[in-house]
Amino acid sequence: MKLSDKAEEILEAMWIAIEENGKEFADIKEIGIDPEDQSYAELTGLGLIALKERRAYFIKEGKEEGRQTIRRHRLAERLLMDVLDIRGEEGDRRACQFEHLLKEGIDTKVCIMLNHPATCPHGKNIPQGECCSEARNSGNLGVLPLTELKANEEGEIAFIQTKDSNKMHKLMAMGVLPGNRILLLQNFPSYIFRIGYSEFAIDTDMAREIFVRQ
Ligand SMILES: [Zn+2]
Ligand SMILES: [Zn+2]
Repeated sequence: MKLSDKAEEILEAMWIAIEENGKEFADIKEIGIDPEDQSYAELTGLGLIALKERRAYFIKEGKEEGRQTIRRHRLAERLLMDVLDIRGEEGDRRACQFEHLLKEGIDTKVCIMLNHPATCPHGKNIPQGECCSEARNSGNLGVLPLTELKANEEGEIAFIQTKDSNKMHKLMAMGVLPGNRILLLQNFPSYIFRIGYSEFAIDTDMAREIFVRQ
């Protein structure tokens, strides 16, 4: 469903008030968006919410839309903080912009890449998607650090998570780049892997920063 950014923010605030704080409705004064804003009319027009005096209620698909917007917001937080290393206030602010892009299947791709996280960086639950229950049922763990592979197991590099640009360059020079196949040959005392026809050895700290998809 195509909604304006503000309409999505209203749904999020409502979902937190109703589903997480156990209220029957959300008080419009506490949503943080001007009660005269036309986004309210957008949501009532689509039959997602009903307004009674100063109270906002979910109707029909409204609650599910709210659940999905919260899911996208919290996945955006995880993506920004864990992968892009944008934290604190800036991370919070950017997550509010980023979440609106995580639609049409992009939320699922992000969820798979992050290995179906259960909580956001603030410790709040991320409503689970179909991808999460499928992964759980099939025992497919999605993206793992290289240290989780066994010797002679192979994977595709998903991303590198390091704040150290020297390390990043070192890894890139070895061909540790997203999309490349990596075969782990040995995991003790150091990690030895093969990419293409070349073999390299790295320590555990570095191996922990390479994330692969099996
Ligand atoms: Zn959060
Ligand atoms: Zn998932």
